[in-house]
Amino acid sequence: MHHLTLAELNEGLRARRFSSVELAKHFLARIERLNPTLNALITVTPEYALSAAQRADELLASGEAGALAGLPLIHKDIFCTDGVLTTCGSRMLSNFVAPYDATIVEKLSQSGVVMLGKANMDEFAMGSSNETSYYGPVKNPWDLKKVPGGSSGGSAASVAARLAPVATATDTGGSIRQPAALTGLTGLKPTYGRVSRYGMIAFASSLDQAGTMTITAKDAAMVLRDMAGFDPRDSTSVDTPVPDYVASLDQPLAGLKIGLLKEFFESGLEESTAKLIREALQVYERLGAKLIEVSLPNLPLSVPTYYVVAPAECSSNLSRFDGVRFGYRCENPQGLEDLYMRSRGEGFGAEVKRRIMTGTYVLSAGYYDAYYLRAQKVRRLITDDFARAFQQVDVLMGPTSPTPAFDIGAKVDDPITMYLNDIYTIGANLAGLPAMSIPCGTVDGLPVGLQIIGPHFAEAKLLNVAHGYQNETLWHRDIPKGYA
Ligand code: GLN
Repeated sequence: MHHLTLAELNEGLRARRFSSVELAKHFLARIERLNPTLNALITVTPEYALSAAQRADELLASGEAGALAGLPLIHKDIFCTDGVLTTCGSRMLSNFVAPYDATIVEKLSQSGVVMLGKANMDEFAMGSSNETSYYGPVKNPWDLKKVPGGSSGGSAASVAARLAPVATATDTGGSIRQPAALTGLTGLKPTYGRVSRYGMIAFASSLDQAGTMTITAKDAAMVLRDMAGFDPRDSTSVDTPVPDYVASLDQPLAGLKIGLLKEFFESGLEESTAKLIREALQVYERLGAKLIEVSLPNLPLSVPTYYVVAPAECSSNLSRFDGVRFGYRCENPQGLEDLYMRSRGEGFGAEVKRRIMTGTYVLSAGYYDAYYLRAQKVRRLITDDFARAFQQVDVLMGPTSPTPAFDIGAKVDDPITMYLNDIYTIGANLAGLPAMSIPCGTVDGLPVGLQIIGPHFAEAKLLNVAHGYQNETLWHRDIPKGYA
């Protein structure tokens, strides 16, 4: 059953070929067998899953089931889940049982999904390799010596190894698309404001966005349809109707104008990856699309801009973890200051501390204008570049990541090299644009992702464009050896 896509599992459930309880048991057994090696899940919730599956089976029998009834799913451990440990990959929240559900958790359970557990992730979603997690690194099922990407590496490894057909994930600077690329999956980061951030533990609030990690674009469309929408509890959630993303998947692609980002093919891109991207573009040309080179002159500034804005916001967001109200508290505090200092000193890992310090620095009185304000201005220039490009083309395409998955340990001691991994993904976050990564081939047995970026709220178009490619190719159906 695990080699089936979400859409196929849905058909099987509705045709009574198997029940939701059988599905849940099948995937839970895989998790039990494979997770000790992969370290993809921090928490497994079998009782929760089996009772949700039982309920889904009853609803399916009565004909009152929601669109996703009975389908198994893993949530990234950044989403609050009522009564279930929610760690955000940090020692700071290693004892935190959330008292409520994040909006997306609530919406997806109303639609009937069956949560199997919570996925490992970089600590507070800061990282590109899943090596900053307090719970240890996640292994890439394509090669256990390689990273699965980050920060949603647990979500990616889970779906790649078919421990679930879908996982939720978040993308602040590439954390859905880059791990999707490195593990051969379809990753979708919606427009900023499309999906509620309520109950999603904040890293950089103006960039964070929840999305999906799936086998196909069709699966992503099914999940996004029930995950997206206005939420009065999130002040940046946008009140615009949610289209039926599944209904528009088969629109013809003839005449589609694809912008090739000049800057994406210039620096640091490995030739073997570039070749696969060019081949993918040829598939689109065969489908009748036109390729147009476009330049976004300010895009090369996206990494430095992000590494001012994101740490600034994180230093503010993470000030709430003080050892007083919830989360980790040091032993025997000697007064309030000692309580703060040791709880934070012991509760946060090195990468999180590095970001908090950078953020505090760029926001400090003497440096605010020189760094933070300047970064905000460059952010505006990057957004304007994208807007100009979308006057000419329907979508932009390029690589998701400069290289396939790298070795565990290869970049941990060099933050700058690690940060450069997100060179192609960060622009879309700064501009709040929807973007996807879809598998388009392999280099030495490791998957490579094609990135597709669209104008604000063009999720339906992106999914349509990705689906068109997946009708012509089979890369998305590849399963790593030993997991089929
Ligand atoms: N890798 C980037 C970072 O470390 C992006 C992380 C993310 O998207 N959550 O900040």
